Amino acid sequence: MKYPKQLHLPGAVFGCLLMLLFAACSQKDKEMKDASPAADVETMTEYLVSQGFDGQQIVFEKDRVIIEQDIIMTMPELEKRVADWQEEKAGGVQTEQRRHTSLISNSYNSNVRIYIDPGVPTAWRTAVQGAVNNWNSISGTRLGMSITTSQSNAHCVVFMGYQNANWVARAYLPSGGLPGVSVEINGYYNSLSASYKLFTITHEFGHTVGFHHTNQTSGIHIPGTPTSDPNSVMNSFILPWAGFTSGDVLATQIIYPL
Ligand SMILES: [Zn+2]
Repeated sequence: MKYPKQLHLPGAVFGCLLMLLFAACSQKDKEMKDASPAADVETMTEYLVSQGFDGQQIVFEKDRVIIEQDIIMTMPELEKRVADWQEEKAGGVQTEQRRHTSLISNSYNSNVRIYIDPGVPTAWRTAVQGAVNNWNSISGTRLGMSITTSQSNAHCVVFMGYQNANWVARAYLPSGGLPGVSVEINGYYNSLSASYKLFTITHEFGHTVGFHHTNQTSGIHIPGTPTSDPNSVMNSFILPWAGFTSGDVLATQIIYPL
């Protein structure tokens, strides 16, 4: 989730940063080769690009990777996906893992429990409640959410971070049949209007339940949904909240049918 468009770093800056990271990670990987069978950064990047992610927008951190500014994947999760992908390429049995890791299982998808950290300011709390209401308003789907006051009982935690950067909030995708584990809000954008806040959190919960960006090519196109949906909540640039598009509603009904 990004705002505003003009805050984007030029591609060249990303490129240089990535090259530096690749160099650093490759070195580390070489040293660890005997100790760990983990896929190297180049292979992981090749996998992510094969899935439609922009190779210029992949940043590797110590134990996770941040894709297109606001999609987070843990290293074990990514390594598992790469292993499955390599097995598939080698002609091995295609597992259902990709689908299970991308969506929430029926055990959890009718009530995704969300906990709001006490550090989240009131205006963002209002947006979280509004976003839960938004997703619950979609009919013809089994997807549902609620806010819980018990952190230990929660699937997903909403908390504050702070960075002078062009992401407003970021979230984990589902993993192992469970919802994405957290949504981090960037306090740098605390002054956004309520309408932008609501769009932002509704968008991040979209990632939490397994949606990718509509304006990028990552993920798998959901058959039967429009191929052009510029006002979708899953556009990576925030808009004032104006409701879901018919494409958003249809996509939700298709991936989480009654
Ligand atoms: Zn996003």
